[in-house]
Amino acid sequence: MDALIAAKELVKKYGDKTVLNGVNVKIDKGDVVAIIGPSGSGKSTLVRCLAGLEKYDGLVTLNGAPIMDAKTAKGKIGMVFQSFNLFPHYTVLKNVAYPYHTIKKINKTDSLRKAKTLLEKMHLEDTQNQYPSTLSGGQKQRVAIARALIMEPEIIIYDEPTSSLDPELAYEVFETIKNLADNGYTMIVVTHQISAVRHFANKIVFMEHGNICVEGSIENVLNNMNNPNLKKFLERVE
Ligand code: ADP
Ligand code: MG
Repeated sequence: MDALIAAKELVKKYGDKTVLNGVNVKIDKGDVVAIIGPSGSGKSTLVRCLAGLEKYDGLVTLNGAPIMDAKTAKGKIGMVFQSFNLFPHYTVLKNVAYPYHTIKKINKTDSLRKAKTLLEKMHLEDTQNQYPSTLSGGQKQRVAIARALIMEPEIIIYDEPTSSLDPELAYEVFETIKNLADNGYTMIVVTHQISAVRHFANKIVFMEHGNICVEGSIENVLNNMNNPNLKKFLERVE
């Protein structure tokens, strides 16, 4: 069976600088994969390539079919960024309904209805008429997650979703991610919060210098650290 998403010999260069060095990775349906590694190791570049947001050499597939650009990935791969990227001039409800309406071409009434239901499920219904600037960072990020979820993507990719949040608000976002993991969502989470990852991820990938250096189940990787660089990295972030 094809992996849900897979990269084969993925190479990314900026000018003559190689940022991804022939990365191979497979993510199966239901996997929740944490990507960790030092700053500059290529984590964001990797997930951006997986989401079709960058040009690259090599092959990335979704259910066996090549992802060439953002268009082929649109609606199938949800992205959540550190900086939320909500539309400041739209209410919460419109932020969530908008991509469903415009990308999936669902009429306005049904889009708003679906957005409302989703916000209720995520206990965000009280915020639906507010503008993003009036929300806490945790609420903003959960609205961004709702906006990804409404598309019914096959996978959601988070790039450091809690890096700009206080620990308490980060916790709230990780609770949401854990809840989605418990409900079988396939997800990739780039993060430094190893302690949170232990609660919801089943796999972990450690990157360095544009390579995947260690990967495996959470237990195997975190309890059996033969890689001295991973050991050093974990001592620094935990
Ligand atoms: P990480 O997310 O692990 O911190 P990135 O994927 O953001 O790492 O970056 C990996 C390397 O690629 C870094 O050295 C960074 O400076 C470089 N890089 C990222 N984006 C660009 C870009 N648009 N142009 C040039 N270099 C880039
Ligand atoms: Mg990054």
